[in-house]
Amino acid sequence: MSLVDEKPNINILMVTMSLQGHINPMLNFAKRLISKGVHVTIATTEDGRSSMLKNKDANSSEIKLEFFSDGLSIDFDRSDTKTLLNTIQEKGRKNLSNLITNLTKNQTFSCAIVNPFVPWAIDVIAEHEIPCALLWIQASACYSIYYRYFKNIDSFPKFDDPNEKVELPGLPLLEVRDLPSFILPSYPLHFKELLADLYKALDKVKWVLGASFYEIEEEIVKSMDSLTPIYPIGPLVPPFLLGEKEISDVNVDLWNAEDSCLEWLDNKPDSSVIYISFGSLVVLSKKQMNNIAITLKNSNKNFLWVVKPANNGGYEKEDAAYELPEEFLKETEGRGLVVKWCAQQKVLMHPAVACFISHCGWNSTLETLVNGVPVIGWPSWTDQPTNAKLIENVFKNGVKVKYGEDGVASVEEIERCIKDVMEGPNAAEIKKRAMEIKESARKALEEGGNSSKNLNQFISEINGLTQQEVQ
Ligand code: UDP
Repeated sequence: MSLVDEKPNINILMVTMSLQGHINPMLNFAKRLISKGVHVTIATTEDGRSSMLKNKDANSSEIKLEFFSDGLSIDFDRSDTKTLLNTIQEKGRKNLSNLITNLTKNQTFSCAIVNPFVPWAIDVIAEHEIPCALLWIQASACYSIYYRYFKNIDSFPKFDDPNEKVELPGLPLLEVRDLPSFILPSYPLHFKELLADLYKALDKVKWVLGASFYEIEEEIVKSMDSLTPIYPIGPLVPPFLLGEKEISDVNVDLWNAEDSCLEWLDNKPDSSVIYISFGSLVVLSKKQMNNIAITLKNSNKNFLWVVKPANNGGYEKEDAAYELPEEFLKETEGRGLVVKWCAQQKVLMHPAVACFISHCGWNSTLETLVNGVPVIGWPSWTDQPTNAKLIENVFKNGVKVKYGEDGVASVEEIERCIKDVMEGPNAAEIKKRAMEIKESARKALEEGGNSSKNLNQFISEINGLTQQEVQ
C-alpha cells in the first residue's frame, strides 16, 4: 500500500532552471514521489520548452511541466550567466509568482521543492505560504563545505594557493583546488553570490533533502546533524538504472541522443570500451582534446566519445574545441565512435563499457556509482573538483587526472589513468569497490534502506501538513 493511500491528494511543485544537470535530478525525484502516489508539477524556464516538449511523452498525467520566463528573450545567449542570473532574480521571480497564482486557482500545493540554483524561488514560495524543501542536487560534501563557508562555521585559508590544505569535519583532507569552485576568487562573483543567497534563505526551508545516499557519504552526513541536517534520498537516478520498473515515460533530454551508439556497443566485447563525456556544459580546449585523441589513438582501445557541438552557456576553456580532426576519426574507425549526445544512462549500463572519463558532474557521478563503472575524474569547475576528490579518496571507485602547470593533462598522464582503472594493479581493487557501491546504492532505496526511510519520513510529514490543512 502506498503511504498516501486514503489521504487527500498530495500535489508538489518543483522549481528549476532548464539546465540538463538541474532537471535530471528533479525529474528523478518526481518519479520517486509519484511511485508513492504524489502528483508533481515541474515549473521550469521557458527557454527549455521547445526541446523538452519535442518529446511527445514529455507530459504525463503524473508529472506536469509548466514554464515561466526567466525574463530574457528565447534567443538570448545564456552563456552570459551574469545577466541571466540578475534578470531571473528580478523578472523570473515575478513570472514564477504569477504562475503559482494561476496554478493555485485549481489546486493546492502541499510543498514546493527547489534546487540550490534558484534561491530567489524560496522567497516566492514563502510569499505564497507553501512549505518549502531544498533538494540538494550535488554531493552532500558540497552542501557541507558551502554551509561551513557561508555561515562562518569553520575557518578557511586564503584561496591564493591551490595546494593549501583545508581541514573540515567529515571530509578527507582537502586542498584549495578540491573545493567547489564557486567560492574561489578566480570564478565570477555572481555564482558565489547565488550560493550566499541560498544559505541566507535556508531558514525558510523546512527540509533539506540530498540526491546522494548515506552509504557513500556517512561521515559527511553525520557531520551536518548538529547544524542544518541533510537527508539523502538518492541515488536520484532513473528507476531503470537500479533494475526497477520505469515509473513514468517522461523524459526531458535537451538534445537528441544518437541511438547508434548502443548498437555499436552491442558489437564490442565486455569491459572493452572507454566512454568519454564532459557533460552538458564543459567544453575542453583544442590542446586538451588533442592529448586525449593522441592517447586513444596510441592505446588501440575501443572508445565512445561525446563531443558536444554547441555553446550553451557552460564552462569553456580558451580555444574551445567542438570537433575532432578528420584524420583522427579515420585512423580510429571501427574501434572509436564520436557522437554529439548519447543516452548516457543506457551507455553506462552496457556491459561493453569498461570505464568513464568523466567531468564528474554529480548526475554523471551517481550514474557511474549505480552501474559499478570505474571513473577517471576530469573535473573543471563548480562541484566537479570536490566530486573527483571523493571518487579517488572516499568512494575509491576511480582515479583523478592530474593537470600540468598549463592546466592540461599530458598524454602520459592520461595513459597512466587509463592503465590504473583498466589494467594496472589498482584496477581490480577499483572495480571491486565500484561493484560494492552499486550494491549499496540499491539497498539504500529498498524498503528499510536509509534513503527509503528518509523519503517516507518526508512524505509523511507533508501528508501531516496536508491533513492539518483540510481539517
Ligand atoms: N548526458 C546524456 N548524454 C550525454 C552526456 C550527458 O544524457 O551525451 C546526461 C547525463 O546522463 C547526466 C546529465 O546529462 O544525467 C549531465 O549532468 P551532470 O550533473 O553529470 O553534468 P552537467 O551537464 O550538469 O555538467
